[in-house]
Amino acid sequence: MKNLFLLPLVFTLIMSCENPKKEDKTTNKYVEETHSFAKPNIAVISHLDLNINVDFDAKAIIGKATYTIENNNATEIILDSKFLEIENVLADTKTTGFSLGEFDEMLGQPLHIAIKPDTETITVFYQTTSKTEALQWLNPQQTADKKHPFLFTQGQAILTRTWIPIQDSPQIRITYDATVKVPSELMAVMSAENPKVKTADGIYNFKMKQPISAYLIALAVGDIEYKAISERTGIYAEKSMVTKVHSEFSDMEKMVVAAENLYGKYAWDQFDVIVLPPSFPFGGMENPRLTFATPTVVAGDKSLTSLIAHELAHSWSGNLVTNATWNDFWLNEGFTVYFEIRIMEALYGIDRANMIALIGRQDLDDELESLKNTPNSTKLKLDLKGKNPDDGMNSIAYDKGYLFLRTLEETVGREKFDAFLKNYFNAHAFSTIHTEKFIAYLNKNLLEKHKINFNTDEWVYDAGVPSNQAVIQSDKFENAEKAMQQFLTNNKVDVAMTKDWTTQEWVHFIRNFPKEMTIAQMELFDDAFNFTNSMNSHIAMVWFEQAINKNYRGNAVDTKIEEFLTQVGRRWYVETLFKAYEKHDKVEEATAIYKKARANYHSVTATTIDKLLGYSN
Ligand SMILES: [Zn+2]
Repeated sequence: MKNLFLLPLVFTLIMSCENPKKEDKTTNKYVEETHSFAKPNIAVISHLDLNINVDFDAKAIIGKATYTIENNNATEIILDSKFLEIENVLADTKTTGFSLGEFDEMLGQPLHIAIKPDTETITVFYQTTSKTEALQWLNPQQTADKKHPFLFTQGQAILTRTWIPIQDSPQIRITYDATVKVPSELMAVMSAENPKVKTADGIYNFKMKQPISAYLIALAVGDIEYKAISERTGIYAEKSMVTKVHSEFSDMEKMVVAAENLYGKYAWDQFDVIVLPPSFPFGGMENPRLTFATPTVVAGDKSLTSLIAHELAHSWSGNLVTNATWNDFWLNEGFTVYFEIRIMEALYGIDRANMIALIGRQDLDDELESLKNTPNSTKLKLDLKGKNPDDGMNSIAYDKGYLFLRTLEETVGREKFDAFLKNYFNAHAFSTIHTEKFIAYLNKNLLEKHKINFNTDEWVYDAGVPSNQAVIQSDKFENAEKAMQQFLTNNKVDVAMTKDWTTQEWVHFIRNFPKEMTIAQMELFDDAFNFTNSMNSHIAMVWFEQAINKNYRGNAVDTKIEEFLTQVGRRWYVETLFKAYEKHDKVEEATAIYKKARANYHSVTATTIDKLLGYSN
């Protein structure tokens, strides 16, 4: 109820922000933001010209960041900075005063820069330090080809400030140019217009002409090659991976066409994917024009490519229409899961789409169970003040967000809902959106327009899942459950019953093993299906989780689990397995593996597992 009373006030505030007078820059264009020190209503960056040298010997990025600013008669501009060494700062062309404020463990330090009311540009000379959290420097052994080192960045949520001094809030959008110098045997690529071949001198120039948020600035440097799939899609990978990746992702152009047919023209010209070494902490990161992806989705049979559909969908929800603060993260992810599943449906049919949706639905149940003591964190709109935005990156934003949108779709009908979504993306292109602004837009353009009652506030502001949720069903999953029952009853596996199964059916089959499953039954399945040696990372992950849960151990499986945990740094996977150890009081065993694995993890993954296992380095 509290939220209902607050709404009219919030609504008034939003309406007044929506029509800022062009000449009056003092309007509160930007909402309050707890994860950035910037004060953009006073002075805000609008364009970045980055000039850096990537030094693999020193493991440092050294250079300068020049910003064009919108200056509202200010005497100071504040950037975010964390673990950076700031050497000198210019206001226009003259050296100016600067100071770093108090250090905050999560946010870093505000970089205060003295400017004049007529200052148009600032330049910061800086270098990164060994503590930087965005960068992961890999030695050749950690790459596929094992010949050259590799570097990649991960900006989301608040890590870009650890490799570029910047106003690091998603509601601040900038265009950028960059000049990046790397060793001449390597190629650099960014979330920008990219090279397709190496240069002789290792100098690369980039341009991102569409305005983006700081968390979407990204850089990867390695011995990589490009191979086109269509005129506007293609892949980057290490040499030994190029052919495999190219055939795995060969549906990329079809995906872009399917997405455009749903919600309008692709706004970023080019859609490429770079497959990174296995320590990359996420499945994928939707860096504009160039998605960063884990090699664990290259299964050999296109079975895990919904990840590419997901990152592509972010080209609309997230990159084009961006959550204003991390409290509104569900607006990025819930919409993206919905869009991803619609792309998968368009390409591969309703059965596949519903299986993906149901796996997400089960993830949501698991998440609700694990968060049962902190019900506030099961709300879509979060309050992350004082907390790391990473804490909000769980199944609630993704799968509860999805379920909300699917329920809305089923309530109003697909035709009306699709028209609404298309207009929503159009109306907010290249801008940011927060939850209250979205609800106002939804009410006006969908619910009131069609005279439909819907409990939006309950979905967004209350804990848990409302009772009017869409029910997702899958005959394929029901068949998989029946097969399992039959195998267990007969104590014998009929392999023919599983011959057309997709990854989703296997995942469902394994995740739904009965509670009282015996070691002998685990063995029966392992002998029949060779799960322990699965080359499909998702199937391997859920199988290893069950092996830990059911105490199905022994050399073969233990070795494979350890191999998996020391080679793969994808947070979702390793967190799932370490959680299983932790749940079964095997923290000591987990810690022994973690000690060997940790050096291979990006800071995003290491931070999560440190916390989970109570590990201090
Ligand atoms: Zn996403």
